[in-house]
Amino acid sequence: VFEVEGLDCAAEVALIEDRLRRLPGVCSARASAATGQATVVHTLEPGAVERALASAGFRARERRRGGEPPVRSTATLAAFLLTLAGVAAGFASSRLAVVFYLPAILVGGAAIARKGLLRARQGALDMNALMTVAVLGAMAIGEWGEAASTVVLFSLAQLLEARSLERSRRAIGGLMSLAPEQVLVRRGGGEERVAAEAVSPGELMIVAPGERLSLDGRVETGASDLDQSPITGESQPVAKDPGDEVFAGSINGSGLLTVRVTRPASETTLARILRRVEEAQASRAPSQGFVDAFARIYTPAVVLVALLVGSLPPLLAGGDLGQWTYRALVLLVISCPCALVISTPVTIVSALTAASRRGVLVKGGAHLEAMGRIRAVYFDKTGTLTRGQPEVTDVIAAPGRTSREILALAAALEARSAHPIGEAVVRRAVADGVAFQPADEVVLRPGLGVGGRVDGGRVLVGSHRLFDEAGLCDHGLDPELERLEAEGKTAVLVGTDGRLVGIVGVADALRPEARAAVDDLRRDGMKVGLLTGDNPRTARSIASELGIEDARAELLPEDKVAAVREAEARSGPVAMVGDGINDAPALAAATVGIAMGGRSTDVALETADVALIGVDLGRIAEAVRLGRAARRVVAANVTLALGVKALVLVLALLGHGSLWAAVGADMGASLLVIGNGMRLLRPPTIDNGLPEH
Ligand SMILES: [Mg+2]
Repeated sequence: VFEVEGLDCAAEVALIEDRLRRLPGVCSARASAATGQATVVHTLEPGAVERALASAGFRARERRRGGEPPVRSTATLAAFLLTLAGVAAGFASSRLAVVFYLPAILVGGAAIARKGLLRARQGALDMNALMTVAVLGAMAIGEWGEAASTVVLFSLAQLLEARSLERSRRAIGGLMSLAPEQVLVRRGGGEERVAAEAVSPGELMIVAPGERLSLDGRVETGASDLDQSPITGESQPVAKDPGDEVFAGSINGSGLLTVRVTRPASETTLARILRRVEEAQASRAPSQGFVDAFARIYTPAVVLVALLVGSLPPLLAGGDLGQWTYRALVLLVISCPCALVISTPVTIVSALTAASRRGVLVKGGAHLEAMGRIRAVYFDKTGTLTRGQPEVTDVIAAPGRTSREILALAAALEARSAHPIGEAVVRRAVADGVAFQPADEVVLRPGLGVGGRVDGGRVLVGSHRLFDEAGLCDHGLDPELERLEAEGKTAVLVGTDGRLVGIVGVADALRPEARAAVDDLRRDGMKVGLLTGDNPRTARSIASELGIEDARAELLPEDKVAAVREAEARSGPVAMVGDGINDAPALAAATVGIAMGGRSTDVALETADVALIGVDLGRIAEAVRLGRAARRVVAANVTLALGVKALVLVLALLGHGSLWAAVGADMGASLLVIGNGMRLLRPPTIDNGLPEH
């Protein structure tokens, strides 16, 4: 894993990946602007990857634990000090000043020129290119001070944004953890632990209780319940018996399994979902901030006009070439909108800082602006709208029993199981102050339930299927059982002395703030939808509770992508909110992907453009408002900065302007727009109240 300095945008990601993949000895290469890292699987000698990256214009170094992040501020600081020295020296002699200005420009401007050139080679003249041209122009007409201060201002602006991004990256890195990539396989009469890539289909792998599966396969022996949430997004464990299919990424419950591997590591369901993420990311238009979009048009236009001014009059009207070249250069320098250049990062950084203070990490200004354009928000269900953790919702007692008795019996048995549903029962018993003694002589039936002895009596707790097999069903409780199943809840049956005596209903409950968060989004004029891999019954019940009209169920990861694309075509920019690997392709496909904090998977966090630190859904509407406010402020600043430019140009044409007037006006405008941008640091906390200007 390499830390790549200045890796900030999708174009650079593509460039780096392309450069690395073409190297012989590189198996795979993935770069990410979100983490500023390139992950390379290679057989090259040390230093070769760094050299290849250096030839593409990127400074990189291999990541070491506890290593310091690369320092970028040195060049900016040096340029700033040199410029100050230049200003001081200017009082003595303007020649002496150049001795300081020139190194300031070289030190501070190298990175700007490199970026400008990189984008120009990809056919886009951006702000970096305009800055480079303007600085070269200013140097050509001897305005060294102007050139140096432009470099310092611009690199300071970029440093600011890079710093705030780095903070987000560190916070996102802190939310992630890594899963082991080793498998225990049976080979030649023994067992050995090998890398997942080295296992071929047909081999037998052994999965201990609590272990994560590294490969897809079919259960050969044993029974257990598997948490398949990384694949399906559903946190309720699924019972598995011999013959059932199991997937890499799922977590084994309480039973020991031997599994016949069916696919190589590169072809597992999990790997295919990850590939889909890459496809979706590649096919999405890179998110572009307002100023980038503006610079795409403005920069070529300015360069073209300057070329025309410098060439047409001498060619057509016999004007003096030197004089018109000078005018063209003045035009270039004047049209460099410093106010704009400094104001946008200040606005964006203020907004990003305000967002991260409120628990929303945004991986770049462009994504924040995109948040402001969102017209529809689609939610995953499990782990996103719901807690993703089962909770007891009903306790039903047969005639002659109390619900506290039922809860005590269930908890006595479930205290012996490590199943999430069992944990939910025990949590509820403890919360209700129901006293229970963990059972003795416990027999676990993985995927079905658990039996044992409580106060001398035999007790059985488990699924409908377990009770059917044991012939313990009591038709008196059938209506209740049917109701629970219709509501999409899991029924835990409790039997003692050979009779069914009660039922505990368990379900994944809605987050308490979900209703208010959805209402908030709708009030802001947004469409709200639900995309879930769960069954239609549960989807309907959640959707009607939240008043969501567009609810779709039984979606595979690629169906979620299709739903997001369709919504985008229908209502405009779409945000997708999710937590699982199965949501990752949709997160990548949406205009803005938002990952939940808390128990979100690494892949969701890595793929998303925005990550919530906590699990508060209300933050989404806040972030949208902040994005809208940022767009308004940037637009106002652009208008102001260009207005000042236009005024100076008109004055110049009328013969009243000078370069110094232009620079002075730009300085004043800069201060104004910086102040305007910094207002976003303090967004009002009351709803719907971001400042209009
Ligand atoms: Mg989920």
